[in-house]
Formats: sequence, C-alpha cells, structure tokens
Amino acid sequence: MKRVAIVGASLAGVRAAQELRAQGYDGGVVLIGEEAHLPYDRPPLSKAFLAGTAERASLELLDAGDLASLALDFRLGVRATALEPGNRRVLLSDGGSVHADGVVITTGGRARTLPGFEGAHTLRTIDDALALRAALVPGVRVAIVGAGFIGAEVASTCRSLGLDVVVLEALPLPLTPVLGPELAAVCARLHAEHGTELRCGVSVTGMDAAGVRLADGSLVPADVVVTGVGMIPATDWLAGSGLKVGNGVHIDAGLVTDLPQVVAIGDVAHYHANGVGRRHEHWTNASEQAPVAIANLLAGRTERTYTPSGYVWSDQYSGRLQLAGHPRPGDTLSFVDGDPASSSFVAVWAREGATVGVFALNNPKLFNRLRRPLRVPAAV
Ligand SMILES: Cc1cc2nc3c(=O)[nH]c(=O)nc-3n(C[C@H](O)[C@H](O)[C@H](O)COP(=O)(O)OP(=O)(O)OC[C@H]3O[C@@H](n4cnc5c(N)ncnc54)[C@H](O)[C@@H]3O)c2cc1C
Repeated sequence: MKRVAIVGASLAGVRAAQELRAQGYDGGVVLIGEEAHLPYDRPPLSKAFLAGTAERASLELLDAGDLASLALDFRLGVRATALEPGNRRVLLSDGGSVHADGVVITTGGRARTLPGFEGAHTLRTIDDALALRAALVPGVRVAIVGAGFIGAEVASTCRSLGLDVVVLEALPLPLTPVLGPELAAVCARLHAEHGTELRCGVSVTGMDAAGVRLADGSLVPADVVVTGVGMIPATDWLAGSGLKVGNGVHIDAGLVTDLPQVVAIGDVAHYHANGVGRRHEHWTNASEQAPVAIANLLAGRTERTYTPSGYVWSDQYSGRLQLAGHPRPGDTLSFVDGDPASSSFVAVWAREGATVGVFALNNPKLFNRLRRPLRVPAAV
C-alpha cells in the first residue's frame, strides 16, 4: 500500500493517522479536511471554549512534534466530493483528486437543523462555537431546543455566564433513551438546581425575532436560539461509490466496508456485528476504533473485531456525568454509592446477573473501578 487517504481531518482522522504510523506503515498519508483548520478537539466547544475560559491553542489535536513525526500530506479547506474505488481515487472540491490504495472514512457528521429555525445557532464546529460565543453577551435570553448532551452543556455554560436559559425538550425527561427515567430525572434536577428553566414534553414549530414558537401557539421569548437536535452522518460524498450507506457508512464488525481497502471510524461509522447495526457519536469510540480499523486495512481483510466500551462523559453545571457499557430498557438499575438525590453517586445496570453498564455523577474513582471489568460484545 503506497498511499492512504484519510477523509475527514478531526479526531477519528487523527487517530487513524497515528495508528497507521504506530502499526509501522511508512507510505504516504493524505489527510483531507473540509474545514480550513488543523484538527481540533470538539468537546470543549460546548464547555470551556464556549465559556471563554479555554484558548484556541488548547484544542489542537496535534502538536508540532506530532506534525513532524506523522509526516502527513494535509489537504485542508477542501471537501472530498466522490470516491471512485475502481480508479482508487478520491475526488476533491477544488477539482483535484488523490490517488490512494487505502481509504479511511472519518467524515463524522453535521449538526441537524430544524425547519423554521433558520437563524438559530447549531454547535458542531469551532466556527459555530465562535459565532455562538459572540452572541452570548450579557443580558441576552437564551432558548435551547433539545436537552441532549450538547443542549445541556450549552445551557450549563450559559448559566455560568449569568444568562437566562430555557431548554425546550420534546421528551418527558431529558436523555431518557440513553439513561432511562430515573437518571434522566437527575439530569432534570441539575438544570433546576442551577436556574435553567427546563420545559419537557413541548413541541416547537419555529422561531422569529421574538423567540421560539410552540405548537400550542405560545411564545418562549429569546434573543439567542440554539438547536441541539443531533447530527447527520456526512456520507453525501459517497453517493455512486458503491459503498452501502444509511445512517452512516455500513461496515462489518472489523470496521471494514464491502471493499477491503476502505474502512470507516468515528461518528460516521455504522458497524454491523451478528446482524445488529450500531453507530456511536462519542469521543472515546472514535479513538478506540482506530487500532482495529487500521490493523484490518493493513491486513487487507477483517482480522480483528471491535468491542465498544460505550464510554461517554458530559460536564453539566458542577457535575461530571460518566457512562460506560450499553444498558437498555428492562435492565435493573441499582445505586451502589450514594442516591439519585445526592450530588455524587454511582449506579450500575444488571442483566441476567451480569453488570452491563455503569453511571456516575461526580465519582470518577469508583466509576473507573466498576467499568474496568465491563466487556460488551460488539452486537449490543
Ligand atoms: C460541541 C460538542 C461537544 C462534545 N462533547 C463530548 C463529550 O463531552 N464527550 C464525548 O464523549 N463526546 C463529545 N462530543 C462528541 C465527539 O466530539 C465526537 O464523537 C467526535 O468529534 C467524533 O469525531 P469524528 O472524527 O468521527 O467526527 P467529526 O469530529 O465530526 O469530524 C469529521 C470531520 O470530517 C469533515 N468532513 C465531513 N465531510 C467531509 C468531506 N466530504 N470531505 C472532507 N472532510 C469532510 C468535517 O468537516 C469534520 O471536520 C462532542 C461533540 C460536539 C460537537
């Protein structure tokens, strides 16, 4: 393999490049990125960077030493527009192309937008974060649509800036599909304790200069509106490539597409094992997938399979929430330290006598001890 093209210059792309070198690959590595920036880390965009307490430089995923040792051929500010596996080419938006024997797809996704919310902020890129940060001036009233991880973190940051915040959520409680009702109630409590108005079970229809309109005709007054309603995997450029796409790029349990020379990692990767498909949108997943995908790419076949840890963290108000494993409805939740009303606790989910998930609020030490023995099959 003389040259590998990595499409998507963010966390998964960087991890892929690092793994190629760590696994002894000394051919050319081209890193293609639609954003003009060198790869940067996204989690601070809703936290310290949005609050203005973290500098741009602290977001860099590669320092000068990494840049020298990885010897990457960067193509930044340019989109991949097509993949031609037969010609072993990636076509670029500037009219150029990259010839590559191997391709790593790491295009992540774009923030989902809502009809009727033209003019609302979304938060996926550093440019989004800079635009939102500039809008968060003293005295503005902020309405956030969606109480998922990003909506909750933006609310938390806005409160730390002393702004009035209302969060509008369609579900009866925030994050219920991920955490279940008992822990979702804890997330609702955190909002209430920190002065965020959380309105659940509401349906939004659009926004105007006065604020957000609800389906019952009422107005939620707001000067700044943020939608945090998920992301859409960036697979448009793969149309016509012959690769299977649909809620991400379809790959096997070793993160390999139908073509052995094309693998996918990170938020865009929709892997299949034992008939079950799964896609994760979390930092640790992008990082953990790289060694497996690159080993298989270099081997030219699926030799290793991916086992997800299911680790996610989120910083909301004064709390660090941590989750590992893959709990699902019907699992039994029990509190092994503290209780849901306290500011620090640890809970575990059990299924058929085995621990299948761990959740902690402000107790990383016990969380890390309990998550270590969790090994979850790829097909969960
Ligand atoms: C605001 C925010 C906060 C977060 N906080 C947390 C957290 O606290 N904990 C946690 O576990 N996870 C968090 N995450 C999730 C985590 O950041 C993602 O899981 C991670 O960034 C995924 O990395 P990725 O490389 O797969 O995709 P992305 O980071 O989305 O990167 C994909 C890159 O590919 C580029 N691209 C797309 N299409 C093309 C194309 N056709 N050609 C070239 N380039 C293309 C994009 O521009 C982008 O730069 C957060 C995410 C966001 C947005």
